[in-house]
Amino acid sequence: MSDPAQSIRTASCADDYDPNSMPVAKAREFIARFLSPVSTIEHLHIRSALGRVLAEDVVSPLDVPSHDNSAMDGYAVRFADLKAAGDAKLKIAGTAFAGVPFQGKAKSGECVRIMTGAVMPQGMDTIVMQEHAKADGDHVTVGSGHKSGQHLRFAGEDLKTGQVALKRGLALRPSEIGLIASLGIGEVSVYRRLRVAFFSTGDELRSIGSQLGEGQIYDSNRYTIHGMLVRMGCEVVDMGVVRDDPQLIEAAFKTAAANADVVITSGGVSVGEADFVKAMLDRLGEVVFWKIAMKPGRPLAYGRIGDAHFFGLPGNPVSVMVTFYQFVRDALLKLSGRDPLPPPPSFRVPCTTPLKKAPGRTEFQRGVLTQDAVGNWSVAVTGEQGSGILRSMCEANCFIILPTDQGNVAGGSLVEVQLMDGIV
Ligand code: AMP
Ligand code: MG
Repeated sequence: MSDPAQSIRTASCADDYDPNSMPVAKAREFIARFLSPVSTIEHLHIRSALGRVLAEDVVSPLDVPSHDNSAMDGYAVRFADLKAAGDAKLKIAGTAFAGVPFQGKAKSGECVRIMTGAVMPQGMDTIVMQEHAKADGDHVTVGSGHKSGQHLRFAGEDLKTGQVALKRGLALRPSEIGLIASLGIGEVSVYRRLRVAFFSTGDELRSIGSQLGEGQIYDSNRYTIHGMLVRMGCEVVDMGVVRDDPQLIEAAFKTAAANADVVITSGGVSVGEADFVKAMLDRLGEVVFWKIAMKPGRPLAYGRIGDAHFFGLPGNPVSVMVTFYQFVRDALLKLSGRDPLPPPPSFRVPCTTPLKKAPGRTEFQRGVLTQDAVGNWSVAVTGEQGSGILRSMCEANCFIILPTDQGNVAGGSLVEVQLMDGIV
């Protein structure tokens, strides 16, 4: 795992891989080695803890359920009073409601009317569903064929006192928040949120609200990055657009690194632009530049600036989203203190459209996964796959992942699809 003494550049140089063609999996592995998660702990009321990462195990302070209780509406009986063949007639001694237990002790030959969730009356060991009993005044008739202990929920069968209910490193969803509430716990220890600063680079970029001159475009990356970060529960620091001016870029890097755990930029890492950024980052920290063997999203910079982790994403809007999803997402999860997660679900389905693909890079084409009238799933590509066509991300619900060595794909072939899990 991570060796803090090992420098990012040294490790990168020691790798056998060509930085001009870094395999996707190798880059992921490399980045993972250098990630140091946040450790500051906050105490929050559970209502405010949705999406936050547990910093300590949640230990159950009680048995859940706290008493043996009925799983059905019916009658609590002694199994010994039932007959192996034929009917048993029992006297109804009282009623047990959820929250209002039966007081007293029923005797042999008696039963207690019981509702779901009610505490099991003393002396009774079996529940007979009301559908299997025939009541007549203060008596009930029960047939044969029952099992001792049936339809009972036992004290502590869900959780025992002192047992770990939820583990550190888990991000809290409504289900976990509910479970914590069921233990009577109102406050949890969570890690502080990861603070992420980001900016766009490019002389051609204009912000929303200004007029476009010739050759200028609106900055969209800052909005997709903002959205993905918010969905991941990060605290965001939007630093706007920075022109391609070495002094301005250097100042922006310094401010970002001083104010955040992670710095994300888009643009300025492609051939031609990377050189001056590279020279600057060599002074400010330790950064490696790779051309990842993937499409879209070839250039990527990764490293440290001061104490901050740095991801320099490509400029093209689709490349930004794909590299974020395939590299940054994982890294941010780890930095947030989350336990390693399995990759987003992927599986193989027929692709109804032929796909253009040259061997040499892993491709993440955008796909639409649909189910036909008889229930079979298939995928189709979302038209043009240019790395500037953001509409392809809007239309897609999955990535079609084509491995490095793959060439063109004939229509009808099986391909691997990976569901987009909601952050994009
Ligand atoms: P670069 O990596 O800076 O050479 O940018 C590659 C392409 O992405 C160019 O066509 C840029 O105009 C475009 N691009 C860069 N940054 C952004 C941005 N923030 N929003 C939209 N397009 C961008
Ligand atoms: Mg640029």
